[in-house]
Amino acid sequence: MQLDIFHLYPDLLNLYGDTGNIKCLVKRAESRGITVNLHNFSDDMKEDLTEGDLFFIGGGSDRSQQLVYRDFLEHKDVLKELINNNKVVLAVCGGYQLLGREYIDKDGNVLPGLGILDYTTKSSDKKRIIGNIIINTTLDITPKTIVGFENHGGRTFSKYEPLGSVLVGYGNNENDKIEGVVYNNYIGTYLHGPILPKNPHLADYLILKALQNKYDIESLKPIDDSIEMKAHKKVLKLYG
Ligand code: GLN
Repeated sequence: MQLDIFHLYPDLLNLYGDTGNIKCLVKRAESRGITVNLHNFSDDMKEDLTEGDLFFIGGGSDRSQQLVYRDFLEHKDVLKELINNNKVVLAVCGGYQLLGREYIDKDGNVLPGLGILDYTTKSSDKKRIIGNIIINTTLDITPKTIVGFENHGGRTFSKYEPLGSVLVGYGNNENDKIEGVVYNNYIGTYLHGPILPKNPHLADYLILKALQNKYDIESLKPIDDSIEMKAHKKVLKLYG
């Protein structure tokens, strides 16, 4: 089996170590004998997005988000169609905000989003939301906890199914006690860490969903997750 992973703007949206998510996906797929083709999609290297099975876009500064917005605008309809056709997309923080309708920065400037999904982010003049976060996910995965670290000024307001309810930390904003967005196989989240290494069950969920779009498979071959789950449980013990 073959998995084509697109890393969107790895040079501009890679704050907080989010490239670790790509390393985790590649390692977990290759450990199962899956051939992985990694495509870096950026302002000076464009490949055909329709070749992709799994897409990742990471977090970054407000300025980086604007640079990516301008460059990606002509491609947004293709990504929207891919999401509507159940392609797997993981968007973290800045990347998550960017795929929404708009981002209102702390000075009140309305920075347009790609509008691929209908949620809005408003940066607050209150302090940034920074800290460890633990959520109880709505996804059909075990365990139900997903752990990470959040660092964002933006507060996101969404009516979509969330990635989970907030057990520790803030998530989308200070009031709703929900975190992220799930729509088809699109997952938007504020969880850095990077999110996937300490949540191997989420990484495998994304890999399986991507493969099921083109192969008739029910599950992935189990691999040893003892170290990853030890790290997961350590976060639960320390902050849960
Ligand atoms: N610039 C956005 C914010 O501050 C996203 C930050 C990030 O990607 N961690 O909310």
